[in-house]
Amino acid sequence: MSQDHHTSFEKMINQDPVFGQMSFNDHEQVVFCNDKDTGLKAIIGIHNTVLGPALGGTRMWNYDTEWSALNDALRLSRGMTYKSAITGLNLGGGKAVIIGDAKTQKTPEMMRKFGEFVHSLSGKYITAEDVGMNTEDMDVVREVTPYVTGISEDKGGAGNPSPITAYGVFMGMKAAAKFKYGSDVLEDKVIYVEGVGHVGETLVEYLTQEGARVTIADINRERLEEVSSKYGARIYEGADVHAENMDIYAPCALGATINDNSISKLRASIVAGAANNQLADESKHGMMLQQRGIVYAPDFLINAGGIINVYAELEGYDRSEIMRKTENIYTTTIEILNKAQQNGLTTHAAALQIAQARIDARRSERRS
Ligand code: NAD
Repeated sequence: MSQDHHTSFEKMINQDPVFGQMSFNDHEQVVFCNDKDTGLKAIIGIHNTVLGPALGGTRMWNYDTEWSALNDALRLSRGMTYKSAITGLNLGGGKAVIIGDAKTQKTPEMMRKFGEFVHSLSGKYITAEDVGMNTEDMDVVREVTPYVTGISEDKGGAGNPSPITAYGVFMGMKAAAKFKYGSDVLEDKVIYVEGVGHVGETLVEYLTQEGARVTIADINRERLEEVSSKYGARIYEGADVHAENMDIYAPCALGATINDNSISKLRASIVAGAANNQLADESKHGMMLQQRGIVYAPDFLINAGGIINVYAELEGYDRSEIMRKTENIYTTTIEILNKAQQNGLTTHAAALQIAQARIDARRSERRS
């Protein structure tokens, strides 16, 4: 090894390149899955299993670098821990990412191979669909492992969780409106939905039914046309959604759209959407929103409908119970927004505290 090489290696070790990663936050296990034949490159992040097996969807995305894929797996799996904890489910937090283009590179063979990796974890991680995945993919995974949810109804599953997720987001948004405006009626509110995929579309349906003035933005023109023609939503043609005049901003695409750049322009009075990890930096951007008087309905709280739906597959409860639990997101959101206000916390921190308290209580119960 040359001296230079040696020095840079030392430097790397000193910086704790693995456990010292920015997004590494007491994760229990990270699994790298590689299969040359199918081209599968996946990372499964298991953040915490104190409350139960780590359940969380699989995202297929064309990441710029493997580091950003790892970062996503770490951030998303941690988010799942808190989502299940705050929703009162006996589940831990996990998430998987597959590196690649879901439209052109996904094959049944790849899905089956991925299922085998999931199976090798013996139920410690249970998968489901996320961005780039659908119910049919989960059906393929089911061929090789029972540790999968979100499979189709004719195969005994609860089907696509996205409509339930959208219902929960709608409930959380209404709760935030009640808190901010004194009324949860969204009629005539100007609402921008960014990302009209599986969840965004159903959210637009709820909002337009209630008479909200909905504008939709997406990088996929076809989706825009389709959703617009179905529900009469206005298509956004401008260059910067965040700078527009609106009452409510609903991020329903990918994470981190609440950042230094967007917050400085944001004119909404409420942020409530489906996307995971909306705050690029949880404490900093949560605080910036608070200082600007923008009510933020924590993402992991209001987008829990999907996990409630897939949990039903494991517990065997029915549709009415799923809807009741999802509707309860309204009450929990109000509680958290009040708690944050009373204690001078950001809404994100208030939600995290409650979720963490539930995990800590279970951990000490186990110890004793
Ligand atoms: P999806 O892939 O069906 O939809 C995402 C949409 O966002 C697509 O139409 C895509 O074109 C669009 N998009 C991507 N980048 C964009 C950008 N920069 N600007 C505008 N639009 C963009 O995904 P989904 O299942 O609807 O999930 C949406 C979000 O909600 C994700 O962050 C996901 O993790 C989260 N979420 C989903 C569920 C669920 O049940 N599906 C549950 C909880 C959280």
